[in-house]
Amino acid sequence: MIDLRSDTVTRPSQAMLAAMSAARVGDDVWGDDPTVIELQSTLAGRTGKEAGLFFPSGTQSNLAALMAHCARGDEYIVGQAAHTYKYEGGGAAVLGSIQPQPLENAPDGSLPLEKIAAAIKPIDNHFARTKLLALENTIGGKVLPASYVEAAAKLGRDRGLSMHLDGARVFNAAVASDRPVSELCAPFDTVSICFSKGLGAPVGSVLVGPEALIDVASRWRKVLGGGMRQAGLLAAACLYALDHHVAGLAQDHDNAARLAAGLAQIDGIVIQSQATNMVFAQIPQAHCERLEAWLKERGILTQMLYASRFVTHRDVSREDIDTVIDAVKGYFAAR
Ligand SMILES: *Cc1c(COP(=O)(O)O)cnc(C)c1O
Repeated sequence: MIDLRSDTVTRPSQAMLAAMSAARVGDDVWGDDPTVIELQSTLAGRTGKEAGLFFPSGTQSNLAALMAHCARGDEYIVGQAAHTYKYEGGGAAVLGSIQPQPLENAPDGSLPLEKIAAAIKPIDNHFARTKLLALENTIGGKVLPASYVEAAAKLGRDRGLSMHLDGARVFNAAVASDRPVSELCAPFDTVSICFSKGLGAPVGSVLVGPEALIDVASRWRKVLGGGMRQAGLLAAACLYALDHHVAGLAQDHDNAARLAAGLAQIDGIVIQSQATNMVFAQIPQAHCERLEAWLKERGILTQMLYASRFVTHRDVSREDIDTVIDAVKGYFAAR
């Protein structure tokens, strides 16, 4: 199957599995797992932060970060379209007693500075205490402009806010903009990074940041369901991905561009955006269900009803992209 539903579907390669089975492990809840320790410190080093903490999911990593920054009755400013607001079950409010202050994302994924400034509440008993600005990079595949991130961080700092980045795909952003990942992380206190997306590990996210905040997040990780024991097996996959899969993200981006260019030539399809490894297309509603079924019969998995998003990743080759374009062409030619 050619699976374009998400970059979360990547399977571990034989070489990654070999690295996993060779991993030295311990009990990470006791802080004894050498491979988890190595992953956490390696990623902290790569991102220019003091410390790292391994999580089973990006959702838990983001939530522990929000809870480390914000106490009950505090507030974080976040995009309407952000994963930490829209796609994490309302965890910050439900489990953290943290009030979200969502703002409409601009088309480039940013939060307009004047809207951020206007949303920061004065210190007054009437208001939740605005503590944190949370951004996402990449967002909808788009890389936030560096000048924007700097300006947003300066505004946040000047107003006494902390900064969190949902950097689930920050390595895609780094590769696409040809900048070291540490530069993209520099404006933020904490950054959550996924290994189970384009980097191709089966499971795992790491939160990086200052030692003191990571300590607090570690306590919240326990409260939010606990740590993992011989997690070095999984950390080994993440270390393998860091060493072997980062540069290959460029190929995913090229493949997404090729897919967008191919689909754009088909009557009936309008490309809304293509950035890094994501293509968003407008496909007439009447066709979505039938096209999805047509492609599935030809070994291509998509999910068009929810959002016509196609995601490239390391288990999709350039030849696969051409197969997909031909199959979509075939569908519209047969109408
Ligand atoms: C995938 C993702 C996460 C975390 O997802 P998990 O499935 O919980 O690992 C967080 N933010 C963004 C932007 C994501 O795409």
